Amino acid sequence: MNRNPSLYLVPTPIGNLEDITLRAIRVLKEVDFILSEDTRQTGILLKHFGIRNSLVSHHQFNEHKSIESIISRLKAGEVAALVSDAGTPGISDPGFLLVRACLQEELDVESLPGPTALIPALVNSGLPCESFLFVGFLPHKKGRAGKLKELSSSPYTLVFYESPFRLSKLIAQLMESMGPDRRASVSRELTKIYEETLRGTLQELSEQFAEKDVKGEIVLVVEGAR
Ligand code: SAM
Repeated sequence: MNRNPSLYLVPTPIGNLEDITLRAIRVLKEVDFILSEDTRQTGILLKHFGIRNSLVSHHQFNEHKSIESIISRLKAGEVAALVSDAGTPGISDPGFLLVRACLQEELDVESLPGPTALIPALVNSGLPCESFLFVGFLPHKKGRAGKLKELSSSPYTLVFYESPFRLSKLIAQLMESMGPDRRASVSRELTKIYEETLRGTLQELSEQFAEKDVKGEIVLVVEGAR
């Protein structure tokens, strides 16, 4: 099949810059322009890899507005790459709306495989990973209680993204809805200097994190219902 993607989704490192792929570097060099969640951050990445290309801002606060002009450039024959701050675009990051708009306009989209935080956290957890549910960030207020209830009966390993400041609250709420004995893991600062994964029951993890200031980026993985 002769495919001509108009949009490439390009994963970028979640910490360790060695995790970028050769293809990601080539695509970022070859496209006509790069859509970036944070042009300053992407600028640093491009400089590191000796990539010169033009950056167009595309983030959650302008994505509805910017899609129209992006689509018209792609329809005119230009090719773009979308990157987020870190990891895979579209995974708890902007991406979905643009992909959907491209497909509606019959513009081909190709997502490169590459870094994302959820997969190493899941595999590191030691919990079953043949089937899992990626939850991402729970809503802060509206819908949170209902979602927690729904998740408590899921038989699949659950993968949450959470900010370090809210981790203890999330673990406490999970203990309320699922009980204290589910096995879980907290992966912190994956691929970075202070990377660590702590494993235990929800109760044990809540005790460990109550004693210290949690810092860095966090993925929480929780055993499914037995
Ligand atoms: N698109 C990214 C991906 O593919 O993983 C996720 C972006 S989301 C805005 C940021 C969240 O991802 C963080 O709050 C954290 O939960 C998780 N995350 C990103 N990098 C991480 C890292 N190095 N270690 C642990 N968690 C990380």
